[in-house]
Amino acid sequence: MPVGVASAQIRVFGQMWTRLLIATTQRLVVAVPLLACSVAVAAPDEPVAIGARITGDASRTILTIELSKPITYKVFALEKPYRVIIDIPAVEFRLPPTTGAGGFGLVSSFRFGMVGPGKSRVVIETNGPILVESAGILSKDGTGQAQFKIALAKTDAATFAARLPRAPVKVKAAAPVEAAIALAPKIQDSATRRGLPLVVLDPGHGGPDSGAVGPDGAEEKNMVLAISKRVRELLEATGQYRVEMTRDTDVFITLEGRVDYAEKHEANLMVSIHADSTAAGRHWQPTGGATVYTFSETASNEEARVLALRENMSDKVAGTAPSGDDRKIVSDWLTEEARFSTRTEEQLLAEQTVAKLAKVVPMTLLPRRSARFYVLKSPKVPAMLVETGYMNNRQDSGHLQSAEWRSKLAEAVVASIQAFFAERGNGIRSAVGLDQPQAMQ
Ligand SMILES: [Zn+2]
Repeated sequence: MPVGVASAQIRVFGQMWTRLLIATTQRLVVAVPLLACSVAVAAPDEPVAIGARITGDASRTILTIELSKPITYKVFALEKPYRVIIDIPAVEFRLPPTTGAGGFGLVSSFRFGMVGPGKSRVVIETNGPILVESAGILSKDGTGQAQFKIALAKTDAATFAARLPRAPVKVKAAAPVEAAIALAPKIQDSATRRGLPLVVLDPGHGGPDSGAVGPDGAEEKNMVLAISKRVRELLEATGQYRVEMTRDTDVFITLEGRVDYAEKHEANLMVSIHADSTAAGRHWQPTGGATVYTFSETASNEEARVLALRENMSDKVAGTAPSGDDRKIVSDWLTEEARFSTRTEEQLLAEQTVAKLAKVVPMTLLPRRSARFYVLKSPKVPAMLVETGYMNNRQDSGHLQSAEWRSKLAEAVVASIQAFFAERGNGIRSAVGLDQPQAMQ
């Protein structure tokens, strides 16, 4: 069949047949266990890839994948080596294992497989710099089946580099935010990335400070580091942010060190990740679930107050001098204004986060709280602290030790960060209920 898309049997789906920008990063995707073909049996309504072929020539090459139904997708390109990544929902690849091994035209090979829960990926290796000329889903009238087509055009390295996006890659609106998948390369602080907002991720505790410990000995410091790394992968995969971590190994950082890190790097946002525990026998029971905290001088409830005290003890636990409880704040109106603006932005962030998290993980009965967390004190950097679950709640502890669950949670955090930046771009709303104590749980 000719590859033309105007065939009478094929209808272009909405606006999907559009030109895409090429996203790129500076580092390799490595150690990604892409399976030659999916081993799982497809869920009843899971799309199935039933054919794939490459057509065209050495200046313009088209990969077509035949599908049992339309799918959403996200396309981006990488260099060193040059390749194109297509992130798609879970697809059963009912294709011969040797599919993609041989090259044609601009394509030297392609591979495909599941890369995470509900996520598949196609990687096209090219034999030089390319432009993604077009990509889209074509629906075959009457059959329910669809084709994914991507057309690659030969270009030179300078043009490839010049097409680095300043803005996020636009994909079909229905494509889930989570399509910005893991396993993406770390983006280094290259010139092309410097204009992007900086998100500082702050995994709690570390080194001698284990944080909360689960019934089976699992330690908070390790769980929250794993979650933070996953959030970093997902954020970087969007191509919309620079990401730094206060720690990405098992090392202790003082609370002041964490705040300073975010301020010195002029972070646009800081997200601290923790996992709580509640002492048995107290009047508040470890109900389990996640909670989102922002800073306030007055704790929203007793548990929030006690938790903040405990988290603020981190320096002592690690055997270093405690960070001063109060930073020297210059009391002028500029600082006050900055603080007001920061605290206002945090409300927005926390609201988004509670909304996104609640869709995928259990939440506490009062999931939006505030307290005097030292690590959230910066008047300049909007920050929130996510208590992802209770280490001493059996269900939560099991969740926290599951890479799959952590990934789900990380996706929701990333979605909330994206929503925050998107909404912030529309102007900050007036502050409502700032620092207002909430009802006791
Ligand atoms: Zn903690």
